[in-house]
Amino acid sequence: MERSDRSKQEPVEVICPKCRYTEIIYLPVDDLPSCPKCHIRMSISELLDEGKSY
Ligand SMILES: [Zn+2]
Repeated sequence: MERSDRSKQEPVEVICPKCRYTEIIYLPVDDLPSCPKCHIRMSISELLDEGKSY
C-alpha cells in the first residue's frame, strides 16, 4: 500500500449506519469520524472520484 503521491487526498463519503447522516472526508485519515447525532463510528459509503464525469 505504498503511494508515491502522499500529498494527494482522496475524498470519500462516510455514512452513519444508524441515521444515514453523511459527511465528506479526505483520505488518508487516522480515524473515521463519528456521527454528530448518534456518536457512533461512521463507515465509508463510497469513494468519490473528482475526475469522474456524470
Ligand atoms: Zn447517526
